[in-house]
Amino acid sequence: MIYLVVQTLVALSLVAASQHNQPCTYPNACWPSDGAWSSLNRTLQGGLVRARPPAAPCHVNSLNDTACNAVKENWNLGLWRGDQPGAYFDTAWENGNSYCNIDNDPAVPCDQGLVPIYMAQVKNSADVQAAVSFARDHDLSTRVKGASHDFLGRSSGNGTFGIQTIKLKGIEFDDTFRPKGSPSGTASQTAVHIAAGEHWYYVNKAASEHGVVVVGGSSYSVGAAGGWVLGGGHSSLSPQYGLGVDNVLQFEIVTPDSQLRTANRFLNKDLFWALRGGGPGFGVVTKVTYKTHPAITAISAFSVDATYTKASQHGFLKTLLTLQPALAAHNFSGYMYPSPTNFTSYLLVHNSADISGANATFQPLYDFAEAETGQGRPVTITSVATVLTEYLQMWGQDPLTVSEDGAARSILLGSRLAPMSAFEEPQVDAMVSFMENLGDYEFLQFHLIAGGRVNQVPENATAVHPSWRRASHHIIVATGWLTDTPFAARDLVRQGITNRTQALASIVPSFGAYVNEADINEPNWAETFWGPNYPRLRSIKSVIDPRGLFTCHHCVGDE
Ligand SMILES: Cc1cc2nc3c(=O)[nH]c(=O)nc-3n(C[C@H](O)[C@H](O)[C@H](O)COP(=O)(O)OP(=O)(O)OC[C@H]3O[C@@H](n4cnc5c(N)ncnc54)[C@H](O)[C@@H]3O)c2cc1C
Repeated sequence: MIYLVVQTLVALSLVAASQHNQPCTYPNACWPSDGAWSSLNRTLQGGLVRARPPAAPCHVNSLNDTACNAVKENWNLGLWRGDQPGAYFDTAWENGNSYCNIDNDPAVPCDQGLVPIYMAQVKNSADVQAAVSFARDHDLSTRVKGASHDFLGRSSGNGTFGIQTIKLKGIEFDDTFRPKGSPSGTASQTAVHIAAGEHWYYVNKAASEHGVVVVGGSSYSVGAAGGWVLGGGHSSLSPQYGLGVDNVLQFEIVTPDSQLRTANRFLNKDLFWALRGGGPGFGVVTKVTYKTHPAITAISAFSVDATYTKASQHGFLKTLLTLQPALAAHNFSGYMYPSPTNFTSYLLVHNSADISGANATFQPLYDFAEAETGQGRPVTITSVATVLTEYLQMWGQDPLTVSEDGAARSILLGSRLAPMSAFEEPQVDAMVSFMENLGDYEFLQFHLIAGGRVNQVPENATAVHPSWRRASHHIIVATGWLTDTPFAARDLVRQGITNRTQALASIVPSFGAYVNEADINEPNWAETFWGPNYPRLRSIKSVIDPRGLFTCHHCVGDE
């Protein structure tokens, strides 16, 4: 997950703009007049707001103690960030090259950073159509802001016009769903219609009340019908039920011609294919219809934490990696965080209360720890096993009060999908060596979220990189910077993560990266995000969005 910004991003966007019709940005002469904005505001019934970075009231020029205190109270809340017109989960994507955080020097004014100048807070499809129509009439560089979790800064942009979808609410279960336009006799199925402004936590909660589960993201506040699904959408349920895109039955979307369209396997089939993994840039999705699955009544939840010294690092990492095929064979899915001297994980076996079997799978790691400790090289391992009686229990507290890990920080990441063979002899040594060479402030995430059902879907059925259909893991290498890190130092951090990502890529040469959790400076981004699917995506984009209204950084069409 991560970020860059400023000079590089500005330079990249200028190159991109020069190739697709130079959409209008502030403060150029093409920018609409105040009267035009007022007229849009009337159409939206007061839904147009002047957006500013959230910490602006804590800085000179906009000082307002009451507003600043409110911002400080909510600063780390992921849901609050998504609700604000000018806030993003990752502060790099609101601030750009401005020191505008609550702990930066208040005497330094906040500039606009990457926050769109105006934000249309749309409340229904008609509002979306009006906002898109306005953007098209004025040829505005336009960004769609959903739950604001993006790691590549694709929902913000210097001098742009924003369409914020977070007020589009609605979760509606439909136990006899048939796609619009389907021929008579088409079998119905259980489904849920989710409006673009909903978060996964509330979908999970509603699904629990309805007695079903929906394949969704791991965080409280990721958008359930926005960027997550447009990029692919992985879940701990994916090995069992596929990616988010494999569960979509229908989209409703306002395309750049401001028409509200339905895309499914019968209507607008090319667009339906592109929206399932092609990323943002085809319009404003207003609603997604997903399959639902039977309620899960038992989950073995297993967390393993370990510490070790440099002396045991190689052995620990190799034992952990060679354990991966056994974990997958035991139907584990979830998240592992190995670092140079410690390891944490949260793994799940859905539809199983067999804790002892789950525990036994880790025996080689326990044996390794015992042997090393016996040799005077201490390795500690603790594990906690719990049986959850429903999927919703994976999320404990009221999300309105949860300070989410990573919220209001600046994190950069790069990634690659990986097959199980990367953890088997002889390739495993290259992966261990990669892990041993991590820098002091770099960390890894191993997501065991592919394999199983994800691998059974044909490679060309959706627009995601075809290597998803051969992958077992998604591996992230990440780092970040502090709010006062000088900009020159940030450039070095960005370069470092790109180098590290390319080192990872060399271990899994024919595998792509997950577009939603990728290096913003990925050198061959179109090939790495979409592989052989890119030419078809590019051609659909040129039909749907010929003027590049919704073009964003390393989205389809951003050559
Ligand atoms: C804490 C955290 C946890 C995460 N966990 C997971 C996970 O478990 N699984 C996973 O697959 N990914 C995960 N991600 C990555 C996530 O999929 C991406 O960050 C994704 O881009 C978030 O989409 P969003 O709509 O929430 O964010 P936004 O920043 O609002 O949007 C992301 C992109 O989608 C576009 N977009 C958003 N809404 C719409 C819409 N309605 N119509 C058209 N375009 C739209 C935006 O313009 C932007 O380009 C996680 C990210 C974070 C920060």
